Amino acid sequence: MGKNDTKKFYLLGDPVGHSISPIMQKLFLDYYKIKGQYKALRVTADNLDSVLSSLKLNGVLGINITVPLKETIVSYLDKVSDIARFVGCVNTIKINNRLLEGYNTDALGFQKSLPISVKDENVLLIGAGGAARAILTSLGKLKCRKVLIFNRTVSRAEALLKEFKIKFPTIKIGVSTLDSDLLKREIVKAKLLINATSVGMKSHKQELSYINPEFFHNDLFVYDVIYNPLETKLIQGAKEKGLRFCNGLDMLIYQGLESLKIWLGQELPFKSSLIEKVRAILTQKLQD
Ligand code: NAP
Repeated sequence: MGKNDTKKFYLLGDPVGHSISPIMQKLFLDYYKIKGQYKALRVTADNLDSVLSSLKLNGVLGINITVPLKETIVSYLDKVSDIARFVGCVNTIKINNRLLEGYNTDALGFQKSLPISVKDENVLLIGAGGAARAILTSLGKLKCRKVLIFNRTVSRAEALLKEFKIKFPTIKIGVSTLDSDLLKREIVKAKLLINATSVGMKSHKQELSYINPEFFHNDLFVYDVIYNPLETKLIQGAKEKGLRFCNGLDMLIYQGLESLKIWLGQELPFKSSLIEKVRAILTQKLQD
């Protein structure tokens, strides 16, 4: 087998040094017996152009995009898939005949990771960035009853409301600033509370201080998209109250698998033991 048989994938962003995606994708590649490599490359908007040119010339098949390139990347795409257009955010690129095709796998990643049914239920969504867009897409597809979006910058949440009301006309969507009183009033009617902001991340100094676990009721499911740390203050609050909860690790795993499927252009059947193994290895890595 020649060197060119190795399938090449990259994660581009800054910082990417502590990303667990290379470990995760290596586990997938090994599982499917694919000779491949997935590397994280520190790239900023300033050198994105030259990096993309070189990846195209070097026969790279696929790219994941992370902060701060998620918006900049759009102007480099030759084609945007229906799902990426619907979500309004690209996290995966397939290089096809040196052309860049943008996809979104976070929406499906969230949907596959969600362990409860939200059909006809009320959901509180904190955040209005790329992750929130993907989650709103899933919630719409899962036919929830109402989504109330809380965001620091309310104009960003209003833009989401305007866009997604057209996409999902039967779902009620409301927006608010980060308001403890409203959250307290609405949470009693909600089945699911989701943090889709970066607040609580290891690199972030702040916590979601306006969400008091005292507001939580016994039937609430708490979902935090953050996986580093594995337990944010929000998750700790849910745990202490004896509620059901999950962090963002399964979303990461499922979106990663979806990206690989797109790059290879084939279905990738798996046993639940694959997810369990990947989850265990990544959990160990994040605890180190
Ligand atoms: P993004 O587009 O930059 O959006 C960031 C969101 O966080 C916005 O709603 C922003 O509010 C809010 N935010 C940031 N700092 C804040 C602060 N100090 N106080 C209040 N709100 C603040 O980022 P993203 O791509 O959506 O990512 C958000 C989080 O999701 C990150 O932690 C990311 O790692 C995680 N994520 C996880 C997965 C997974 O697979 N588990 C996938 C994608 C993303 P403003 O609009 O007011 O700025």
